[in-house]
Formats: sequence, structure tokens, C-alpha cells
Amino acid sequence: MNNNILESLRQDYYVSEKIELNQKGLFANRNYKMGEVISDFSSSEILDHPTYLTVQLNEVDHILLHPIDLQYINHSCSPNSFFNTSTMKLEALKDIAKSDEFTFFYPSTEWDMDQAFLCRCGETGCIREIKGAKYLSIFEFEIHRFSNYIHSKYLSFYSLEK
Ligand SMILES: [Zn+2]
Repeated sequence: MNNNILESLRQDYYVSEKIELNQKGLFANRNYKMGEVISDFSSSEILDHPTYLTVQLNEVDHILLHPIDLQYINHSCSPNSFFNTSTMKLEALKDIAKSDEFTFFYPSTEWDMDQAFLCRCGETGCIREIKGAKYLSIFEFEIHRFSNYIHSKYLSFYSLEK
């Protein structure tokens, strides 16, 4: 076996092609328990605007992810993972089995996305048009987990603070 294969076997996750969708995804290489940390993350670069690859930290900072493989985590309206931008840890929102694809709810970190898209996750409660937390209904806001930044931003933007 060559070193690249050995390296990928040692990792807790791996990038794989999703042929039917013509895109890549990130998959679990072992089982995870709900609440477990899947990976630490940090920024390889900080931008002052969102792109389709960035994760929003606050009003001005949008980061490109390190480790870079984390950028392959696709959106789902019933996500199994969460980028906690306060602790800078990717957390499992539910039990995840080996070979499951990691997904996260893009609006959980993104206020107003650079590129909106139509979701085809097929989950019950799919919100279809993914544009950012700014466009979510109160109901959607209440059933999902958000970064502290997005949570506060939504409450203040819609004057919902108690
Ligand atoms: Zn969806």
C-alpha cells in the first residue's frame, strides 16, 4: 500500500466523489456519537466577503477552512454536523455511522449567502431555497442550531430579543 492510502485509512473522514450528483462529499471513516467533536477547524485564509466555500465567523470575517477537506461537507436540511464557530470545533449533531456523509445546515453559519441554491436533500422539512439565515422563518429558526453569531444576528435583525 502506498503512503497516501495509509494516510487516508488513518483519518477519521475521507472525501469521496458522489457520481450521481457530480460533486464531492465528506464521509465518516468511523462511528461518531452525538455531541462528539469530529474535527477542530481553523482558517487557512480570512476573507471580508462570503464565497461558496467560506464559513462566516462574524459580521466581517469569512474563513476558508483548514483542514481543507472540511470544505466538502455538503448542505442538508436535516444535518448531522455543526460548525461551532465559537469553539472552532465541528460537532456531531446526531450519531453518525461509518461511511455516512457529513452534512451541515448552511444557514447555521451563513447570514446572507453568496450563491443561493435549490436544495434537493429530500428530507422532511426541506426548505428548498437555501440563501442564508436572514431568509428563514421563525419556525425554521427555532428547529435548527445556529452559531452564536447567527443566533444573535437573527434575534436582533427581527427585533426578537426579549
Ligand atoms: Zn433540503
